[in-house]
Amino acid sequence: MTQTHAYGAASASQPLAPLNIERRQPGPHDVKIDILYCGVCHSDLHTVRNEWHNTLYPSVPGHEIVGTVVAVGDRVTEFKPGDTVGVGCMVDSCQHCASCAEGEEQYCENGFTGTYNGPMFGGENTWGGYSENIVVNEKFVLRVGHDAGQLAAVAPLLCAGITTYSPLRHWQAGPGKKVGIVGLGGLGHMGVKLAHAMGAHVVLFTTSPGKQADAKRLGADEVVISKDAAQMAQHAGSFDFILNTVAAPHDLDAFITLLKRDATMCLVGAPASPHPSPNVFNLILGRRRLTGSAIGGIRETQEMLDFCAEHGIVSDIEMIAMKDINEAYERMLKGDVKYRFVIDMATLKQEAKAA
Ligand SMILES: [Zn+2]
Ligand SMILES: [Zn+2]
Repeated sequence: MTQTHAYGAASASQPLAPLNIERRQPGPHDVKIDILYCGVCHSDLHTVRNEWHNTLYPSVPGHEIVGTVVAVGDRVTEFKPGDTVGVGCMVDSCQHCASCAEGEEQYCENGFTGTYNGPMFGGENTWGGYSENIVVNEKFVLRVGHDAGQLAAVAPLLCAGITTYSPLRHWQAGPGKKVGIVGLGGLGHMGVKLAHAMGAHVVLFTTSPGKQADAKRLGADEVVISKDAAQMAQHAGSFDFILNTVAAPHDLDAFITLLKRDATMCLVGAPASPHPSPNVFNLILGRRRLTGSAIGGIRETQEMLDFCAEHGIVSDIEMIAMKDINEAYERMLKGDVKYRFVIDMATLKQEAKAA
């Protein structure tokens, strides 16, 4: 075990503060990563404040990790010291169930192990990327092909990027397809960029008229103010796919009625309380589908990173120092971020050295 500086919460009611955690020595199949940047996901906040009622303390969040390999176990063949790599939401899974066998580890039937807060169905706690380094099985380490100057903005691809890429691919966003993205936050802004790069006709739905220009800059072909019933009605029955990234409970029917026959709306925002039930007639008439999707498998996450490197896609970020994380959480709650906070982990190392 090695002592590692980190930031975490001792309980649901306490702010994040410096603490020390222990990382295991790299085993034969492990990769030790010096963390350069870590994105700030809304799940981090939900977890440290125990809003999903399953948090193990102390809680060290962070699952949008980019860093440099500093050591590898003697059986590791795919990575070597000096490589630039990423780690997303998972660090392990059972590796033998049907989902794992198909490379869909995020749906592991025995529960994947989260990068933080441990295995889904109970077990020892795990600590995430708000720390100096992390030790991860090579199967859950991703290769980053972006330029060195882009690495901070690559970090959010590991959660926000794959969470939007996977359903866009699964429901075949591409040329000739009309794709809606609901919400322009951390997830939504990635959805717009990715759907645009895949060649779809992209329509962004927002409640804020002020976001119109930014949505077009990010790649939206059209922007619809979803509170405006007349604007919404113009798009009735016309969408091949809608990716709904909004986590606040809202009226799903307003969007379901915009789908073509047999088209799908996929939810990727996780509301703390349920959406009002949709009107079943809107599903029956048109055989429309309402579904959800969770991150993506390791193979697909690598595909997403390669796609983004090839198309020059990164997240729009605001960089913060580790000590400013509590303030960043408060701003995130107000939607006051364009569009993702990323922690510069050099600031944690400096802080630890000064202490
Ligand atoms: Zn996340
Ligand atoms: Zn499995």
